[in-house]
This record gives sequence, structure tokens and C-alpha cells, in this order.
Amino acid sequence: MMDCLFCKIAAGEIPSKKVYEDDRVYAFYDIDPQAPTHFLVIPKQHIASVAAVDVSNSAVVAHCFEVITKLAAELGMESFRVVSNIGEQAGQSVFHLHFHVLSGRDMTWPPG
Ligand code: 5GP
Ligand code: ZN
Repeated sequence: MMDCLFCKIAAGEIPSKKVYEDDRVYAFYDIDPQAPTHFLVIPKQHIASVAAVDVSNSAVVAHCFEVITKLAAELGMESFRVVSNIGEQAGQSVFHLHFHVLSGRDMTWPPG
């Protein structure tokens, strides 16, 4: 999608600190980290949010979670939180599906 920040980051048109990349998924550190480790895992294809996941695109979402598990193991993360905000009220500010992966500090529940 032309005017999507994360499409541009996934395509390398906007610089980011890469954690991982393959043909379908890109992972990069959040510019405003909310934990000692905070990176985002995104599909390269444009999907607006979890609310736009369906049978045509769910395979890449499953792959995002395979990547999250692999990166968590590689980075030695034994405890971590995966978050995806859907819609403005829930805190979504970039409308390209992304999974926040946060680790390295105590976390509270329920989230704010
Ligand atoms: P959301 O608010 O949609 O759940 O998450 C969007 C996330 O993207 C935020 O945590 C924000 O800090 C991050 N972000 C926004 N713009 C950029 C950017 O240009 N580069 C990087 N690396 N992260 C960004
Ligand atoms: Zn996009």
C-alpha cells in the first residue's frame, strides 16, 4: 500500500533496525521502546490489523508467530508479551498489522 509506513519499512524505503527478515515477514526494533527489548513483527503484505485476517491471509499470520518463537529463543527471552492493538481505542496508531514483542521487565495485568 502506497502511503503505509510499515509497508515502506518492510520494503527498506524507510530505515529501521532489523531483527529478522525473510520473504514474508520483517521484524524490527520499535522506535519508542516500552521495555528493554521491544520489537515489532509484521507481514510484508499489507494487512490493516487482526480484524482484517481471513482465510486468504492467515498463513502469514501463523508465520509471524513462528518467527516470534524463533526470535525469542535466539534472544534468550524466557518470558515475554505479544500484543496487537486493533483500532484507535485499543491504541493502534499504525494501520498495518504488527505484533509487539516486549520483554525484560516486570509487566502488569490488566494492561492499561
Ligand atoms: P501501535 O500504536 O499501532 O500499536 O504500534 C505502532 C508502533 O510503531 C509504536 O510502538 C511506535 O513506537 C512504532 N513506530 C511508529 N513509527 C515508527 C518508525 O518509523 N520506526 C519504528 N521502528 N517504529 C515506529
Ligand atoms: Zn502496509
